[in-house]
Amino acid sequence: MSTETFEFQVEARQLLQLMIHSVYSNKDVFLRELVSNASDALDKLRLAKLRDDSLDADVSDLHIELEIDKDARTLTVRDNGIGMSYDEVGKLIGTIANSGTAEFLRELRQAQDTAGAEGLIGQFGVGFYSGFMVADEVTLLTRRAGEEQGTRWTSRGEGTYTLETVDGAPQGTSVTLHLKPADPDNQLHDYTSVWKIKEIVKRYSDFITWPVRLVGERGDGDDKTAEPETLNSMKALWARSRDEVSEDEYHELYKHISHDWRDPLETIQLQAEGTFEYQALLFLPSHAPHDLFTRDFKRGVQLYVKRVFIMDDCEELLPPYLRFVKGVVDAQDLSLNVSREILQQDRHIRMMQRRLTKKVLASVKSMMTDDAERYATFWREFGTVLKEGLVTDSDNRDALLAVASFATTHGDDETVTLQQYVERMRDGQDDIYYITGESRESIDNSPHMEAFRERGIEVLLLTDPVDEVWVDAVGEYEGKRLRSIAKGEIDLGAQDDEKAGEDREKQAEEYAGLLGWMREQLDEDVKEVRLSTRLTVSPACLVADAHDLTPALESMYRAMGQEVPRTKRILELNADHALVKGLNQAYREREDRSELTDTTELLYSLAVLAEGGRPKDPARFVQLMADRMERTL
Ligand code: ADP
Repeated sequence: MSTETFEFQVEARQLLQLMIHSVYSNKDVFLRELVSNASDALDKLRLAKLRDDSLDADVSDLHIELEIDKDARTLTVRDNGIGMSYDEVGKLIGTIANSGTAEFLRELRQAQDTAGAEGLIGQFGVGFYSGFMVADEVTLLTRRAGEEQGTRWTSRGEGTYTLETVDGAPQGTSVTLHLKPADPDNQLHDYTSVWKIKEIVKRYSDFITWPVRLVGERGDGDDKTAEPETLNSMKALWARSRDEVSEDEYHELYKHISHDWRDPLETIQLQAEGTFEYQALLFLPSHAPHDLFTRDFKRGVQLYVKRVFIMDDCEELLPPYLRFVKGVVDAQDLSLNVSREILQQDRHIRMMQRRLTKKVLASVKSMMTDDAERYATFWREFGTVLKEGLVTDSDNRDALLAVASFATTHGDDETVTLQQYVERMRDGQDDIYYITGESRESIDNSPHMEAFRERGIEVLLLTDPVDEVWVDAVGEYEGKRLRSIAKGEIDLGAQDDEKAGEDREKQAEEYAGLLGWMREQLDEDVKEVRLSTRLTVSPACLVADAHDLTPALESMYRAMGQEVPRTKRILELNADHALVKGLNQAYREREDRSELTDTTELLYSLAVLAEGGRPKDPARFVQLMADRMERTL
């Protein structure tokens, strides 16, 4: 059949350009990527045959072969796995479907310099295309198991590729790299060197559960057909004890299953014995993936049954709030035919989930005590996700609270745990105070904070949307209530002395008239106007009743399509502020209060502005303000 030429999809072309002119110094990893793809293809074939015995495929000796031809300067990576159909080759190799890669390219366009580009390549796997770092032409010959016809794909990476159907192709896929000319100054990067290939496989692919064989090295004039040699040990790392396995070996396994090119932050091993036996090797990544909060984020670990790969992204083994955890779980007593439907109902799976969850939380806890810096990285990357567990997983709430930490008014960069907060609470302080808002800046300077700052009372600064939800769900910690400083009445003065209490009563009487009158003026927006104990500098602020929805929650519910009534808030005035004092005096003395109506409106708008809000009618606000300023000239 004739050869057809196709154009690469735009993103694919960009990626290829990058590989061809690669700035990435560690080119060796191309082999890891190809061996990794081959290994996946073998896993898939074994599984397909298991599910459907009538599949016309030979699974008697599944393996990966590497072949070097020194004369032709080619390196071939061959597997007898699942292979690809003609259409699949075009779809899988000609386009980029992986969302991580798309993200990678977006960032790459922004990183102008080569150093930035190198850093980025190190973060994102680029799979098959990495072959173009070392080859100026790549040929892929493949036949899908069960199909007759094979397909040959060829490209020099320059915008187009060709496809043709071929007869007599062996089952599986072989990728032949036509290596770039040898660099006499850099023998280290000669990929026709047997020694080099052996070293790379040992370093990056030792744990691959299929044999990786080096077959008949050709070249140097005579055809040497040496015996095939298996280069990898094929040891399932999760089944071995920790002291037998090096850190590097764990890290390479992580990279293979996660498609992350960076080392993980933490490796967690669990070997459960007894009636339901399983081994787990879990990893905490060092960086949160970009799509962690998107709906189609692929979560879950790899499930093996008795060393046989069963599925990627097995969601049932960990709760959604641990969706960033990668790894392998190998169960001895599940059926090889286990399906997602069965997993969802299986009692053992639920027990495994419980145990794995506890194990992960326990290792975060030890990270916290043993290595504060690593813990800080972890919490920065994944804290927001973990806090979802405070709402959804009441069984592990205590364990989650133990590892959670928060920004605080005590210290700029430091975070504090609830335990630490409670330990340094002031005498007479009964509650744990927090404030929620969009950014640290906006809440740090909010008027609600004034009295707390003056008295040196610590306040937690909560800026994630989920914070609004978990504080309500959790309610208290070790008998101390979690209290928003922007909600309800805060009486920090009560501890001081009795006289203060008397003064306040007197003040309340003096202001009663003004407060009632202002409430009427602001009827649309506030349900009460009262004197505040939380202000020292600002004239006014807005607060909510203890059980009211906060504005952020209100808009969150609306965004989710739920109908919620508009919650009116409470306007608090600072009776020690000259403006408020003057207002009261004017109210008591004047007959004509039309001026005061405007002042009331301005005061309310100022309180809205102070918490980062926006006046209802900005144009009117500006007009009133300009008018006042003019009079001060
Ligand atoms: P990734 O492996 O990250 O998905 P690649 O570009 O390396 O990205 O590969 C794209 C897809 O092509 C793979 O997901 C797989 O479906 C298919 N593929 C690649 N190599 C092989 C192979 N040796 N055998 C079968 N399919 C393969």
